Formats: sequence, structure tokens, C-alpha cells
Amino acid sequence: MRCTTARVDLGALESNFKAIDAYLANESGLNRSAGRGGPAIAPGTIAVVKANAYGHGARRVAAALETAGATMLAVADIEEGVDLRTSGIRVPILVFGALSVSDLDGVFDFDLTPTISSPAAGHALQSGAAKRGATLRYHLKIDTGMNRLGFRHDNLHRTLPELLDSANLALEAVHTHFGTADEPGHTLFEMQRTRFETACRTLDELGAGPRVRHAANSAALLRDSRVWFDFVRPGLLLYGLVPAPLGSTMPLKPVMSLTSRIVAVKGVRVGETVGYGGRFTADRPVTLAVIPAGYADGLDRRLGDHGFVLVRGRRAKIVGAVSMDMLTADVTDIEGVGTGDEVVLLGMQGDKAIDAREMADWIGTIPYEILCRLGSRVERCYV
Ligand SMILES: *Cc1c(COP(=O)(O)O)cnc(C)c1O
Repeated sequence: MRCTTARVDLGALESNFKAIDAYLANESGLNRSAGRGGPAIAPGTIAVVKANAYGHGARRVAAALETAGATMLAVADIEEGVDLRTSGIRVPILVFGALSVSDLDGVFDFDLTPTISSPAAGHALQSGAAKRGATLRYHLKIDTGMNRLGFRHDNLHRTLPELLDSANLALEAVHTHFGTADEPGHTLFEMQRTRFETACRTLDELGAGPRVRHAANSAALLRDSRVWFDFVRPGLLLYGLVPAPLGSTMPLKPVMSLTSRIVAVKGVRVGETVGYGGRFTADRPVTLAVIPAGYADGLDRRLGDHGFVLVRGRRAKIVGAVSMDMLTADVTDIEGVGTGDEVVLLGMQGDKAIDAREMADWIGTIPYEILCRLGSRVERCYV
């Protein structure tokens, strides 16, 4: 086994899933008893496991969530859904993405729940379902201002009747997606919220029967209980991270940690440079630890001279360029560092911790990208 491995703590995943559930139940209970606005009945959870479960490994994560009681999972495309069904997942699987250029057979053959976000997707699924003599349940996506996928919120009277009349399609749910839920000052969130409410009333006017509603990603879930509706759709929170700049009192634990081992320790003299481009110059005698993890493992090149790793319970700065298979850290001020010592890139060591949100901050990105980019050559160990 390689030195650089990701440890995926399925116990932490289950605990996060339950913490979200408890939070939703508790807040709704308070709404009920204290007569506060907001939902009085706790919403269900659609657990988001797209993009290989944010890099954690979709099969194992989905199985753990199913065992923990998840009643619906969500993926980005048909291929991801087929992979989960093939691995034995039995709960409903919602496909978020567009179906326009996909091979639709998987939807029928593997019992997936598609999102219909355009008239063309509706036509294609209706004819597929008719050909098989089946009735297909689907979720309808409304574009309330993200301007990506979905039926525009402002002309539903014109665009929806044909879809709603499709003989072999059954509307199960209607949803939307927020563009700025993690930007507390942004007015688009409130605009999207009210547009979605209006769209739901339009569906009533069009006679689109009983159906459930969902809208909230992790940030929206934390931000405003009025958008919980019947289901929430957390991804990042399940993996133990709160989207910046939001905070939460939920007891979440990061699910992934990333560790390696020092493969060489070496001295560098004053004036010498380190690594590609000679980007780091020693201005004092420096002791370097060489760590076999690089951008091929998903560690961003921008971490060079900006990030840290944990060695012997202390922070060591990454110096020089992050290369494909290696990086170097300055351990001059840390006593007794030797070959074979454990290095923590994400996770805890002693009383120090680095999480994906902090790593994202160092390089000007978001924790989502840190997690999803973890390289395929990094072995995931499940505990
Ligand atoms: C990815 C995604 C989510 C989950 O987002 P988080 O910010 O990780 O909670 C929810 N809904 C849709 C439509 C998504 O694409």
C-alpha cells in the first residue's frame, strides 16, 4: 500500500447524518411548540453522493448512508446511479443532472428517478416509458434564478402543461437550487425562495396533483428553515464540513483524513533553492521533509509556500513547488523528525487539525473542490 492514503470514517458519516436529522427534528419541534414561523414537521433528507461521494467513494458511502436510514440518495448523472445500483443500493436514487445527451436506458433498467429540467427531456422519457409500458416517476426542476438547468420560473403556464399531461410520466416532486445560499448578504436567495413558492402555486393551478418539494443544499439548510419544505439535500454537511462563511452548532466530524509518511529528510544550505522553478530559497540552514504526495494525488500546486502539513504534532509549512508526486515541508523547527514519520495533510494529529475548509482558504477555493479532487491513485481506507 502507498504511504499516502485517505481514511474515510464511516462512523463519522453516520454520526453526521444523524446530527443533521436531529437538528431538523429539534428546530421543527421548536417551531411547533414556540409557535415560530418555519416548518413544524421535520423534512426528510436526500443524501447527496454525487461525484464519487465528494471524493470519499460513492459505493461505500451510499451503503453506509442506506444502513443509517437514508431514504433517498442523489447523484449527478445516470452513470453514477447505475454504478450504485450495480453495487447493491436499493433506496430510491435521484439523478440531478441534465438528460439531454444521455443514454436513457439506465433510468429504466436500473430504476433511477430522473430530474426533468427541459421539455426535450420530458419527451424523451415519455417515449421511453411508453415503449416499455411503464409509468416513470420524476422530479421536476424549476430554474428560479441560477440560470443553469430547469424550466424558467416565469413561463411555466406555457412550458409545463404538455409535460404534466404525459401519459407515462408521474410527477413525484418539484425542486429548485439556490445560487447564493452561502452568501448571507446576497438578495438572490430571497428572490429565488419567493419565485419557487410562486412556481409551486402555478403547479397547483395547473392541477399537478400532490407532490413533494425540495430546495435546500447544505448552506440553505443552515440559512433559512423556510426552504426546508419536504426534503433537504445536504452534501457537504454529511461529509462533516460547513460551507464557508456559515457556522453551525451541529456536532459534525470531517469524514475524510489524508495522511502520508516522510520518505526523506534533508538539509539545505543558505542560498540553495528547492524543487521545480527554484521557488523557495533557504535564508538559513533548513531541514526539509520530503512527502510522497503531489498534484497527481489531488494536492493543489498553489499549496506551495501557502499550505501546511502536520508533523510530530506541529505545523510545518509546505515550501517550494508541489510537484506531481512529491511535496516538501520545512521542518527545521521541529525536533527529531525522521524518515517514516506520519504526516497529516487533512485531519488531526495530537491536538492540531487541518480540515478541507482551511486548506481551501489557503489557496482561494472551496472545500468541495479539495474533497472532489482527491486523486484516484490515493487508496481510500474505510473504518
Ligand atoms: C450538489 C447539490 C446539492 C448538495 O450541495 P451541498 O452544498 O454539498 O449541500 C444539493 N442539490 C443539488 C441540486 C446539488 O447539485
